[in-house]
Amino acid sequence: MTLSIENQNKLDEFWAYCVKNQYFNIGYPESADFDYTILERFMRFSINNCGDWAEYCNYLLNSFDFEKEVMEYFADLFKIPFEDSWGYVTNGGTESNMFGCYLGRELFPDGTLYYSKDTHYSVAKIVKLLRIKSQLVDSLPNGEIDYDDLISKIKQDDEKHPIIFANIGTTVRGAIDDISKIQAMIGELGIKREDYYIHADAALSGMILPFVDEPQGFNFADGIDSIGVSGHKMIGSPIPCGIVVAKKRNVDAISVEIDYISAHDKTITGSRNGHTPLMMWCAVKSHSHADFKRRINRSLDLAQHAVQRLQTAGINAWCNKNSITVVFPCPSEAVWKKHCLATSGGQAHLITTAHHLDASKVDALIDDVIKDANGEMIAA
Ligand SMILES: *Cc1c(COP(=O)(O)O)cnc(C)c1O
Repeated sequence: MTLSIENQNKLDEFWAYCVKNQYFNIGYPESADFDYTILERFMRFSINNCGDWAEYCNYLLNSFDFEKEVMEYFADLFKIPFEDSWGYVTNGGTESNMFGCYLGRELFPDGTLYYSKDTHYSVAKIVKLLRIKSQLVDSLPNGEIDYDDLISKIKQDDEKHPIIFANIGTTVRGAIDDISKIQAMIGELGIKREDYYIHADAALSGMILPFVDEPQGFNFADGIDSIGVSGHKMIGSPIPCGIVVAKKRNVDAISVEIDYISAHDKTITGSRNGHTPLMMWCAVKSHSHADFKRRINRSLDLAQHAVQRLQTAGINAWCNKNSITVVFPCPSEAVWKKHCLATSGGQAHLITTAHHLDASKVDALIDDVIKDANGEMIAA
């Protein structure tokens, strides 16, 4: 490909900008410590994973073999026998969640979807697109769903087939809804297990909890029906992507025949990215369980370091159990703009994703937060 000098310069400038800012990120949960250069040579192919990796497809340039192995990995990680599961590599956590909600709605067309106020904003879009009846449930101060409000809304609606959208690590406060508590309370209403659906939005924490010593329950063995994870968050990827795992028998109910590629489609989009399954495959094949564990422990330790430093300085910082999201009162604009922090409802957070190999970036931010709290000016 040839470009004019002017356009070539524009690309070169963008390259320099990306190199300079590649580890900028402390307010958003995107790990930047990946290296997929081994896959660069595949950029010349129009790889397309339209349809189902488990079936023959007439479109030869697909990476189905790799996608299948990615799904084997996640079935195992989320404790469902591979042959009872089905899922795929999505465009991101949002599509993963949409797929889970779609399955819930197909199973219970008249069911109401219950989701808490701390749920990711995209779920409101999903509810509109799928036209699912829905109810917004209050949150507890730490970001978990308000269990009493959930139950009283199910009762009030006289809902026989609730679809529960559970958060496994909320975006703003890293909170994890207590699945066994939700199940016990729904059971007390006299609703049987086969009469409700639970989807777990584990965009970030789905790649944290399997590697900690005392995880909160969120997998299939804990009674979940589908799980969504983002690939570009804890794992890290240059192209946004995600993974969704569901129960095969629920998926079989939504399968559609596509005659012109001679395959069945169960996924939300038509053409699907064939490169991101290769990336996820490289990620899971190049890290042992112990590697992921070490990487995640480093992030968790760094989050604890941040909480302690801020608390020692008299700043009310905190972190949910097994979370790398450190919440603290929103500093002044000069600080959150300088460090690109996400702020919401008077709170800010920093997220100790895996590219923070040492505390330097986190400490630089904390230094500014402490100075700011003491009324000092912050240099840009
Ligand atoms: C980021 C996030 C999403 C959306 O995931 P994308 O990969 O950005 O589509 C959904 N839920 C939670 C809790 C998230 O943090």
